[in-house]
Amino acid sequence: MKIIMLGAPGAGKGTQAEMISEKYGLPHVSTGDIFRANIKNGTELGKEAKKYMDAGQLVPDELTVKILLDRVAQDDCKNGYVLDGFPRTIPQAEVLDKALTELGDKVDYAINVDVPDENIINRMSGRRACVTCGATYHVVYAPTKVEGICDKCGSELILRDDDKPETVKNRLEVYHKQTQPLIEYYDKKGVLKEVDGTVDMNEVFNSIVSILA
Ligand code: ADP
Ligand code: ADP
Ligand code: ZN
Repeated sequence: MKIIMLGAPGAGKGTQAEMISEKYGLPHVSTGDIFRANIKNGTELGKEAKKYMDAGQLVPDELTVKILLDRVAQDDCKNGYVLDGFPRTIPQAEVLDKALTELGDKVDYAINVDVPDENIINRMSGRRACVTCGATYHVVYAPTKVEGICDKCGSELILRDDDKPETVKNRLEVYHKQTQPLIEYYDKKGVLKEVDGTVDMNEVFNSIVSILA
């Protein structure tokens, strides 16, 4: 099963992708996590990506597409995956489709987690991220057992540089311009599913499970 998570920054794509990953045994592939791991390790890719991420802009398609195609070519992705944060532009979606078509394959579901802009700033300022394992928390809606420490791996959590309100505003603009058109793109392909992302995260997950079941 190949699943794409669509939605604004902060809509809950990562949270839901992680739950899907656990329930269905599919790898959770997040281009944002891959970039952050590269930044943490000081790689050239990380240095390049950081310039765009800090400004709330998208990393150029050439860079992004290559790391994504390399990732999904790995062995653990053979039976499917959940993509979180990719594609974010029509050209990225076209490259993915072409690569899948060449393998006689396709995207099964594009799940749009729908959350209006008004809710987003609030979600982002409370988000806490683990750069070691990719887990995501929220100080109010998804708190950790010990403040500031990842429940899953024990690492220290960070407030992402790009989750500051000024940057979030840019990211929302970029989302509406460059990423939102993907909703129509996948609708035309007949694989689009919509879920209300404003409700409790377990309720969102229940809606997704009933789609995948
Ligand atoms: P969020 O969880 O808020 O949706 P991500 O972790 O997916 O954010 O992405 C963080 C940043 O990484 C983006 O703002 C962008 O700069 C970069 N990025 C991640 N995925 C992509 C992509 N598919 N194309 C271009 N840039 C990306
Ligand atoms: P995305 O990957 O789309 O950027 P995340 O999954 O990182 O979004 O979620 C953004 C923030 O909102 C995180 O702090 C997360 O814990 C929180 N969150 C996710 N889903 C919900 C929800 N349904 N209700 C309230 N908060 C949520
Ligand atoms: Zn962790």
